[in-house]
Amino acid sequence: MPLQPTIGLEVHVELKTASKMFCSCRNEFGAPPDSRTCPVCLGLPGSLPVPNRQAVEYVLRTGLALNCQVAERCRFHRKNYFYPDLAKNFQISQYDEPLTHDGYVDLEGDGQPVRIRIRRAHLEEDTGKNLHLPDGRSLVEYNRCGVPLMEIVTEPDFRTPEQVREYLYSLRAILRYLGVSEANMEQGQMRCEPTINWIDPDTGARTPKVEIKNLNSVKSVYEAVKYELARQKRAFEAGEELVQETRRWDEQKLITTPMRRKETADDYMYFPEPDLVPLAPEPEWIEEIRASLPELPKARARRLVEQYGLPEYDAGVLTESRELADYFEALAAVAPDAKMASNWVMGEVMAWLNQNAADITAFPLAPAALGELLGLLASGAINNTTAREVFARMIAERKGAREIVEAEGLAQISDTAELERLVEQAIAANPRAVEDYRGGKEKALGAMVGHVMRATRGQANAALVNELLRKRLG
Ligand code: ZN
Ligand code: MN
Repeated sequence: MPLQPTIGLEVHVELKTASKMFCSCRNEFGAPPDSRTCPVCLGLPGSLPVPNRQAVEYVLRTGLALNCQVAERCRFHRKNYFYPDLAKNFQISQYDEPLTHDGYVDLEGDGQPVRIRIRRAHLEEDTGKNLHLPDGRSLVEYNRCGVPLMEIVTEPDFRTPEQVREYLYSLRAILRYLGVSEANMEQGQMRCEPTINWIDPDTGARTPKVEIKNLNSVKSVYEAVKYELARQKRAFEAGEELVQETRRWDEQKLITTPMRRKETADDYMYFPEPDLVPLAPEPEWIEEIRASLPELPKARARRLVEQYGLPEYDAGVLTESRELADYFEALAAVAPDAKMASNWVMGEVMAWLNQNAADITAFPLAPAALGELLGLLASGAINNTTAREVFARMIAERKGAREIVEAEGLAQISDTAELERLVEQAIAANPRAVEDYRGGKEKALGAMVGHVMRATRGQANAALVNELLRKRLG
């Protein structure tokens, strides 16, 4: 049997709570350096931590959404290590008693469904940030120190970089639907560390595990996993020695380079945090949280397919964010046709969002306003070209669709007598096209349709023009 890749993922997620994990400092990005600090998050002697209930709830929400078990009782541990970005010389984390554990996420794969087991989703605190200046000085900034951090660890169930990528997109969407984090990898709100090795299923021989750090986009994770799998396989097959280590992804050269030999749990001398009592979430609270979980992205996509008859592709795009799916459903409720609503959201609306680097919450047209435009289009009052123009003007002028169409006389021309007159003109002006068409060149009709559309500033009913031309030319 060929060598088999095994990949596990550790994901850290900054939780979107109002205050930090063990103190009341505001959890806020972009404040002046060290302005969101206090004796607790600076680790001053004698200060005492108090757990953040909202952070506990967010981990419970996530754990339940990932099909995890909730611990009846669990503890915080101290993970001891010295590094300047964590001034008290230990991180309060969870060790052998995570808050939630043993869940799973199902991936669709490329027609190859796969279940990724979740080992644990636990709670800990973030570190500050070390800044290394070009002049050689290093600074430490503590605003991020003590921000609630959730760690989600999978079993080594991934076999391909594509599965890893799908998992990260899926997880990100779930976290956003749950409202527990912005989960933006580029901004460090979601950080991912894959662990990679190969196993020979016949002999049980395996390459040492390598963990990769410094990955700040889903694309980097995908590229790094792909690179590292190839590197290890090549070395393994050539009989070269590989070591258990942590490697860094080099974004410029697109390679991994050695960073440090991997620490083991022993190196951290974990012991129970003596300043915190165990956590024992009440069953009623857990059930309350379970009942309040929103419909998750995959379930919602399935429902959109069933309820609106949308293609799976549309449902996937529309459920990328909860707000976008909400917008679509509000539009579908007032639009003449759900597929038409989907086409417009995925087309004109998303193009506008891209151009303006905005998300749907900043889109200026309410679903009812866009629905009015789609109604005019579906009824034949305006044609497609005009609808796009009116769409742009609705945004620019903050006016309703009907108002613009009526004021500007943009209504579609479906008056047969008038169109017949224009068709005659088009035929007279395009003798060559007439000849070609009669000679069997179907495409030649386009020149004459174009003539009529130009003469009407794009407002002619194109389908009707086609019909009249065909009839007239026999
Ligand atoms: Zn603080
Ligand atoms: Mn961690």
